[in-house]
Amino acid sequence: MPVYLDYNATTPLDEEVLEAMLPYLGGGFGNPSSAHSFGRIAKEAIENARSQIAGALGCSSSQVVFTSCGSEANNLFLKGLASYLKPAQVAFSAIEHPSISKSAESLARSGWTTRKIRVDGKGLVDMGDAEAAISVPTGMLSVMLANNETGVVQDVGTLSEMARRKKIWMHTDAVQAFGKIPFDFPSLGVHAMTISSHKIYGPKGAGALVLDKRLTLNPLIDGGGQESGLRSGTENVAAIVGFGVAATLAKTRQEHAASSMAKMKLKLEEALRGMGAAFFSDADRALPNTVYFSFSGIEGGTLVGEMDKMGFAIASGSACSSGKTEPSATLLAMGVSPDLARGAVRVSLGWENTDAHIAAFLEAMRMTLDRLSSMASRLQV
Ligand code: PLP
Repeated sequence: MPVYLDYNATTPLDEEVLEAMLPYLGGGFGNPSSAHSFGRIAKEAIENARSQIAGALGCSSSQVVFTSCGSEANNLFLKGLASYLKPAQVAFSAIEHPSISKSAESLARSGWTTRKIRVDGKGLVDMGDAEAAISVPTGMLSVMLANNETGVVQDVGTLSEMARRKKIWMHTDAVQAFGKIPFDFPSLGVHAMTISSHKIYGPKGAGALVLDKRLTLNPLIDGGGQESGLRSGTENVAAIVGFGVAATLAKTRQEHAASSMAKMKLKLEEALRGMGAAFFSDADRALPNTVYFSFSGIEGGTLVGEMDKMGFAIASGSACSSGKTEPSATLLAMGVSPDLARGAVRVSLGWENTDAHIAAFLEAMRMTLDRLSSMASRLQV
């Protein structure tokens, strides 16, 4: 059985989550909008999940809007709010997920201007540049809580204070942070937050936008008026039920999971450093599960492929577009050279990982590096 070390991409379904979902894939198939008992059962299940998510985030149920995924929630915040406000500037960090950066850029068609906020060489938002960015009239600011590649955690609390002083609506994408570090909605001080089910051992097909009650958005999808009119379309009941259970588990397991993952991460980093790895993020500022590194002269894609053959699933930092491998935009924004960025690989740990997985992974990595370097030296002769 291959060892999965790519939990920032997606997570497996927790057994407890699956158990909770099964009734809604069977007899509990009703449409939550129906007035009969089948509908009522489905509706109650959704409301229960809503309160589980609210409980995990410290907000009230009425603040949780279900979407189909994190990308949709990010789109809903930016586009839904932009269509309600007078066009101004939308500011976001240079390392946002494309569902933020591309949504923001699409607002140019309706008269908005965009401003990317710089990050430093460690992947941290440059606070001076953030202050400068919002010194001109700005409608919205979006900065992620934790980055999917580097795992670096931003000081969203300080950014939201800056935004509030200027009366700017502030959003954070907490998709990667949820379940890995402790936080809640009120203490971050943001007006909106995105989370996603499949990153916290829930099913794919559910996400949520958590909203400050003072925020008014226009929906992206019009129709039957589900989710208080903010997201029409018959709800994915089973996925939402699973999301609710996963959110509760994420909250209750976070502390224990973080400390066990942090120990494994430390071992990984020490051993990889010994093999000559260069790291892209500051361990102290990164999620407890994420290690992002490269070996000079080895393409990230090559290492991912070789490790896959050895039975280990990791990710490269490169994005494939139109058949060409592009270095990670996050690393380029951090000032990493394109050559070094092409070598980036990410190991992201999960609850199921054990010390034995780490030991086996490191052994396979040693063998792979030896093989690749002896191939390279043979090619040079
Ligand atoms: N935001 C971040 C930081 C992510 O890492 C991801 C997914 O990788 C998303 C948003 C999108 O979430 P989803 O896959 O639920 O659309």
